[in-house]
Parts: sequence; structure tokens; C-alpha cells
Amino acid sequence: MISLHDKTFVVTGAGSGIGAATAEQIIRLGGRVIGLDRTLASRKDSQQLNLNADVTSLSALEEAVSQGKAHFGALDGLVTCAGISVPGDTLTTDEDTWNDALAVNLTGTWLSVKSVLPELIQQKQGAIVTIASVYGMLGCSANTPYNVSKGGILQLTRSLAADYAAHNIRVNSISPGYIATPMTEVISAFEPAEQAFVSMHPMKRPGQPAEVATAIAFLLSDAASFITAANIPVDGGFSGVKDILVG
Ligand code: NAP
Repeated sequence: MISLHDKTFVVTGAGSGIGAATAEQIIRLGGRVIGLDRTLASRKDSQQLNLNADVTSLSALEEAVSQGKAHFGALDGLVTCAGISVPGDTLTTDEDTWNDALAVNLTGTWLSVKSVLPELIQQKQGAIVTIASVYGMLGCSANTPYNVSKGGILQLTRSLAADYAAHNIRVNSISPGYIATPMTEVISAFEPAEQAFVSMHPMKRPGQPAEVATAIAFLLSDAASFITAANIPVDGGFSGVKDILVG
């Protein structure tokens, strides 16, 4: 049985999709959430404190973490769900779009980690889960800025795990496949696109945000006490199977 009893986690991107499901799951398992997003419905109680913070600003993140620590009196880790979808190939992507993808997805993840590390080091323990993607593990066409940002998150995760294992801080990533969230509504709203994505997943359906949140909760919990520098795909078999049977 996974428990997050009495543990407090920062969740970025907590206002939507996988981040919102993660916040719910942490609370269901007995934990507390400092929820960060660009714009977030206000909440301040014994289970969750919501704060607006853009992950591209280290000072905004540090201020939010400090307020969260003051509210709950503790901090045990971080889940970095804030992210944007940035499709395009190299010729069709301008420099600003490329920079945005890296600024939010990759640098935003790095800054989020940077904002919690001093507290976790001081507490001599912590668990961090970054959200990458199957497209950080595999190539695909017309998605270069996103793919590169997610591949960077996987390497960032392994580097963080190496640097902070001595402080008893575990750092792992989750790589979701096609998950039904507001980010993928552009796909689900168009039946042929939805079918194309579903057909690439051996389980032949989209994943649900709660299914990703459960894997995240496992990695945050003491049940994963000897797991660090790992990446768990939550993708219905997408990254592990290339079937020879068609249909
Ligand atoms: P989502 O529903 O769009 O949620 C992402 C959240 O991040 C939104 O609330 C968004 O706010 C927030 N955000 C974006 N930029 C931010 C910034 N600069 N600072 C703070 N918050 C920011 O998407 P999701 O599907 O849950 O995605 C969560 C993570 O999973 C992302 O990193 C995504 O790349 C990854 N992922 C998703 C899938 C999938 O199929 N859904 C698959 C693989 C990986 P706004 O609404 O204001 O933009």
C-alpha cells in the first residue's frame, strides 16, 4: 500500500490534467500539496495551498516554495507537471518558438528543482518526479522542439539523481504516452487523429491522468526508497512494442 501520509510536495502545473490528478492523488494518500501554475483557482487549507508561479521565473518559484514551506512547515519533494506542447519541424519552427519550448519544459523543470533543493538538502531527504514523455525517448516527425525538451528532461533527471543521491534525494521521471488532458484536446477533438494515436498504443486507448498520477505517487513514496535515476513509461505499451501485426 502506497502512503504519502504527512508528506508535503510541490506540484507544478497543478491546475490542469496530470498535475491536477497528481495533487488529488497525493491528498488521497494522506499528503499535502503546494500547487503552482500560471493561473490557479485560489485554495488555502490544511491539504492544499495554491499559488500562481510561472516556472520560467526562479524568483517566483522560490517565493512560492517559501510561502508553501511557511504554510505547511515541511517540504518532502516536487513533481514537475508544468509543460507546453510545441509541434513543428526545424524549418517551420522559428527561434522564439524553439526558445519557448525549452524555457518552459526543460529550463522550467530545472528551475523548479533548483527552487526546492536547498530545503530538501537541509532535511536530508526528498523525492522528485519529473514529467518527460515517450517523445523524449523516441523520435517522431513534426515535433522537434517538444521532443528535444523532453529528451533533455530525461538527461536532467539522471544528472540530478547522480548529484543528490548522497543527500538522500531520489530523482526519477515518468514518460506518459497519449493521455486524455486539455493538452491533447486538439487530438481527441479530431477523430482520425485520435484513432492514429490510440492505434500506436498496444492497449488501444488513451491513458487517464489518474493512471499517471498513481505511478508518480509510487515514486514519491517510501515504497520506491531504492529507486533513483529511473524513467517509468506510463504509455499502455507504446514505447516497448512495435508490433508486426497490423490492425
Ligand atoms: P495540461 O493539461 O495542459 O497541463 C499543463 C499545465 O501546465 C497547465 O495548467 C499549464 O497552464 C501549465 N503551464 C504551462 N506553462 C507554464 C508555465 N510557464 N508556468 C507554470 N505553469 C505552466 O497538460 P498535461 O497533459 O496535464 O501535461 C502535463 C505534463 O505531462 C506536461 O509536461 C506534458 O508535456 C506532459 N505529457 C503529457 C502527455 C499527454 O498526452 N497529455 C503526454 C506526455 C507528456 P496553462 O493552461 O496556463 O498553459
